[in-house]
Order: sequence, then C-alpha cells, then structure tokens
Amino acid sequence: MQYTSTRDSSLSVSSSYAIAHGISAEGGLFLPCEIPQVDLKWIRRLCDMEYPQRAQQVLSLFLTDFKDAELAEAVEAAYTNGVFEEDWAAPLSDLSDGRFVLELWHGPTCAFKDMALQLLPHLMVSAARRVLDGKQILILVATSGDTGKAALEGFHDVDGVKIAVFYPNEGVSPMQQLQMATQKGDNVAVYAIEGNFDNAQTEVKKIFTDPEMIRRMAACDTVFSSANSINWGRLVPQIVYYFSAYADLVACECVKLGDPVNFVVPTGNFGNILAGYYAKRMGLPVNKLICASNRNDVLTDFMHNGVYDANRSFYTTISPSMDILISSNLERLLYELCGKDDRQVAEMMQQLKENRRYAITPEMKEKLDADFWGGAADEDTCRNIIRKTLDEIGYLIDPHTAVAFSVYEQYKAETGDTIPAIILSTASPFKFAGSVLEALGAQRPADEFAAVKALSEGTGAPVPESLAALEKAKIRFTKVLLPDEMPREIELFASRK
Ligand SMILES: *Cc1c(COP(=O)(O)O)cnc(C)c1O
Repeated sequence: MQYTSTRDSSLSVSSSYAIAHGISAEGGLFLPCEIPQVDLKWIRRLCDMEYPQRAQQVLSLFLTDFKDAELAEAVEAAYTNGVFEEDWAAPLSDLSDGRFVLELWHGPTCAFKDMALQLLPHLMVSAARRVLDGKQILILVATSGDTGKAALEGFHDVDGVKIAVFYPNEGVSPMQQLQMATQKGDNVAVYAIEGNFDNAQTEVKKIFTDPEMIRRMAACDTVFSSANSINWGRLVPQIVYYFSAYADLVACECVKLGDPVNFVVPTGNFGNILAGYYAKRMGLPVNKLICASNRNDVLTDFMHNGVYDANRSFYTTISPSMDILISSNLERLLYELCGKDDRQVAEMMQQLKENRRYAITPEMKEKLDADFWGGAADEDTCRNIIRKTLDEIGYLIDPHTAVAFSVYEQYKAETGDTIPAIILSTASPFKFAGSVLEALGAQRPADEFAAVKALSEGTGAPVPESLAALEKAKIRFTKVLLPDEMPREIELFASRK
C-alpha cells in the first residue's frame, strides 16, 4: 500500500518512508492512498486473539512493506513482557449501564500515548533500515504533557535515534513535568518553552520543514522525524484498540457481531479520534464518533457550524493534554471529507496559518455530520462528574476521561441514542492526583506525592508503580527556552557525541 500527502497527491511513498520521515517535505501529512476494507468475518477472528495478535492483523493491512516477522516482533515487544501493568494492554470495563470504559493508560507513563509510543520505536527502526541508509534520526516532539514522556519512554537508548522534547512551561501537570525532567537515557533532551502548546508545536513544525535546518542536519548525517500524532506510525497502532474493544464486546456477547456502537473520545490534537474514523471507514460497525473537548472548544464549534476558528482565548485547564487550539490531525480528515483534493486542503491550511480560520463546504459538513458528534465540558462540570462517578458506581476517572463522560451525557440527552457506548479513558487518575482530589472535595496538598497517597487511601485504588518511583528519581533537565532559541539548541543536541 502506498502513502501520499494531504497537500500533494502526486506523492507516492512506502509506509516505511512515511514513518521514518514523519511529515511530508511540503508540510502536509502522510496518509494511505486507499483505506483497507475488512468484513465481519475478519472482525470475528479477532475475538479469539490476544492483543498483540490483534495489533498485528491491523498493522499488516497498512504497513505492507514491513515483513510479517518484523511486525510480530514489534507487537510482542510493545504489548507483552510486563510493559503494561495489566496483562491485557487495553482492558474494557463494563459499567453495567450501556457504557464501557476502554482503559488505555496501563502503560509505563500512565496515558494512552503509550499504546502507540511503545510500538513506534520498533516500527521506526525497521523503517529507517529500509529508507534512511544509516543516517541518525532526530525526533522532535512538541508536547502538551503526555506525548513527551511517552515518546521519551519509548525512544530512550534506542540506537541511531535521538529525541528532543519541548513542553510549555507552566502548561503541564506537576507529575507530567517530573516524569519528563527525570527521564533517563543518553540520547534524550527535554526543554520547557516559554509559551503554550500551540507555540511549541508551531515552532517544531517550522523547524521540520526549514531548508536551512534540514541542510544543517544533513551536515551531521541526521534527518528529522516526528513522534507526534502527525506521524502515521502513531495513528496506526491506535486503530487497533477500536477493533479490539469491539471484539471484546462481541466475545462477551454484550454486542451482536455487526451491531453498531458509539465511541466517545476526549480530544485535543484529533489523533485518537481520527484512528476511530479510520476504523469506521475500514468496516468497524460504528454509529457515531463523539468528539469531546474541554473548555478549549474549537472542535465543538467546528462540528456544529463547519467553521474552524482558532481566534479565541486559550485556557489552561485541569485536562492539560487537551489544551489545544490547532488540532493537527484534522488535516487528514479534511483530505477525506473533500474527496482527496490536495489543493483544497493546502488552501484551508494556508487560511489557518494567515487568519487562524477556515470554513468547510456544505458537502464536507454533511459528511462530517454522518460520522461525528461534538460537545464540550467546562472544568466544574468535569469535577462534578468525577465525584458523581466515584460516588454512584465506585469508578475513579481522571479529568480528561471526565470530559468524555460529561459529553456523552450531553449526547444521550440530546439524541436519545442508547446503543452501547465505549468511552476511551486516556489517563490514570493518579497522573492528575491533585486535580482529582480537589474534584472529590478534598484539600489539595502542595506536594503532588502527598496527593497521590491521599487519593489512593481515600479511594482504595492502587498507585501505578511508575508514578510512585518518581518520588525518588533525580531531576536531569531544567532548561527553559524562548521559541526562537529552539533551532540553536536542536543543532547543538544533534551534533553532540
Ligand atoms: C493526548 C491526550 C488526549 C488527546 O488526544 P489527541 O489524540 O491529541 O486528540 C486526551 N487525553 C490524554 C490524557 C492525552 O494524553
């Protein structure tokens, strides 16, 4: 299967090329030329498989230039051997009221990013062998908190790869910051940036495609790549758990094979929910993909009126990984909605850059409505739903997952739709212990580890080991940069022995 770019349909590259390079030279995003199709028999077969085998089935449809043995080895390394604290990488919890929670946070960094970033390094090393003949890869990551740590945890000490992570100073949770600042490995660098996530992401995207920077990297035998969800290698592992969750529901006879379900996805950069869109287009019986936003509700408005307008205030919330105004992966959806018209996508992206705003056509809006429903929840609503969910059904959720719980309530109230819903839970509540404690009506201790302890004692839920270990970990990274200092730092890091 060949890949092309959202802004240049004349391109045709292999999946290895798309993954090794991360982003297309003209600034577009790689995506498959055709979406592979599966039938119900294919889905039925997944029911009898373990998670890694399910992953291999999905991956092999998209990554056709990877050998079976490479994929088999990659999924084993990523999803077995105690990498995830549960023996099943993406377990489903039945709330017994038509809601099922897909817990995607049992990996080493306690957020759903591990689902893809434990696998991506294996894919990238194989891909680089094929298409980069021995050059060093320098991965640049802009993070709103969770991607940074998950990428560091995936790529530290991987041969032939360096990774530099940039996060907004004061824009991430205390636990997220500590996770990144204490990262081990000789091939890693971590920086705080003065500004918000969009500032960091914009600067990283600029550096990726800056001819002068690319020339300087070539001088030290290095190519840039990305571990953000703009990399197709991040998207494809996420498609797996949509199929896996559905197969689980079929296996436990909660859903009849072929009957539709809804997915509810706490959304920021539109990567997670886009994977659900691909699953639906492949043939998974999905009714609606429900896009849940926090107070930064640019996507909600887009879903309602077809206008993407980032001219609005940016809010720092208790769900920081969703504090985003420019959702990069929407570009891939636009490409599909407009009938793969690369010129139209390039035009909309140009408008976004110049005016921070674009509108889609009525035809595109109609297609959007067929698959998506959007809603937003503010912080007080989320705090209430965290408390209510624990009080009423004894289930503890984090503030990101709370956004999805709340928007699903809105969806049900507005549409009356009661078919089974799978709510994607994207982070461990312990990663945001202070905010969760506050939501439960307790005092928030100044120290984050005291918060973790209090939350565990108050709810009986166990603390994930990787978070508990942070209390004694040594801080390695403290540098704070202005966005325009990033190129110079990157150059120094690339050339460092
Ligand atoms: C990254 C993240 C999200 C948002 O996912 P996108 O793919 O960016 O839409 C939601 N919740 C958590 C906890 C995250 O880490």
